[in-house]
Amino acid sequence: INTIGVLTSGGDAPGMNAAIRAVVREAIAKGKKVKGIKRGYAGLLQEEIVDMEAKDVSDIIQRGGTILQTARCMEFKTPEGQQRAAEICKKHGIDGIIVIGGDGSFRGAQKLAALGINTIGLPGTIDLDIACTEYTIGFDTAVNTAMEAIDKVRDTSTSHERCSIIEVMGRGAGYIALWCGIANGAEDILLPEKYDYDEQKIVNHIIENRKRGKQHHIIVNAEGIGHSASMAKRIEAATGVETRATILGHMQRGGSPTCKDRVYASTMGALAVDLLCEGKSNRVVGYRHGDFVDDDIDAALAMQKCIPEYQYQISKNLSM
Ligand code: ATP
Repeated sequence: INTIGVLTSGGDAPGMNAAIRAVVREAIAKGKKVKGIKRGYAGLLQEEIVDMEAKDVSDIIQRGGTILQTARCMEFKTPEGQQRAAEICKKHGIDGIIVIGGDGSFRGAQKLAALGINTIGLPGTIDLDIACTEYTIGFDTAVNTAMEAIDKVRDTSTSHERCSIIEVMGRGAGYIALWCGIANGAEDILLPEKYDYDEQKIVNHIIENRKRGKQHHIIVNAEGIGHSASMAKRIEAATGVETRATILGHMQRGGSPTCKDRVYASTMGALAVDLLCEGKSNRVVGYRHGDFVDDDIDAALAMQKCIPEYQYQISKNLSM
């Protein structure tokens, strides 16, 4: 490997910059050249490729977002697009690529690997929904951002004796909702993996809690359940308790990464470079049982992950 390309793809996540910085500096330390590819696979197909030096990644470890920017790209999903992308890599002398993103981005990396470009994937998503790893870049920051916001809503919810539905991100995966639900002591946690669409149970829970003298009722609702505002109207009508919905939205994707996200993203970025230098390809970096690991992308994509049942069950007892 002589020249390593790096790109961010899919949704952005805090800590991606720390990973980019680690890739650039570890590669330079190993005597390799680095090229930054802007706007994910879309930028690769547009040849938005820039040389990166150590100074180009100074002052970014503490910043959210991604300096390389990110995109979703339909053209890259076609065999013609992938072929053209591999040719562009060769034209620019890029013989290894590090892709920071989610499962979709890894599928793209898999295609490039099959076309002779060595690829390593780094798990970058706030949703934690990548099966081969217990940690994804950005989850820790996102969940802390959401937790702090929910604390604030809870203060005013208690003062006004309201019920508050707070919608957090996680269209297909309820990890942010589960973690916030436990961390914020939510009375109900609605996860896409568990929700049975029986709103009457929530209504009964609110009425019971009111009788027991609870002054607030916090419902953490994962984005995947949807329509928090109309749910709030229905719950208010059924319980007589003033109910408001707060949708946290994109604030969860931004902000300065936590210490954990900076350290893990830095470690993973450096490890990706080391794997390329060892001649490895079609691998994805993860974190399991206290160690940084790497798996074949095909095997990683075939793995399954589910919400930890024990934590979900105890969350109900802990909010009594
Ligand atoms: P997030 O979890 O944040 O959504 P992601 O990486 O899963 O991240 P996707 O939109 O699924 O996000 O994928 C990002 C890009 O990767 C796509 O826009 C596309 O260019 C490429 N990609 C996704 N799936 C494939 C595939 N099956 N084959 C080739 N490329 C793909």
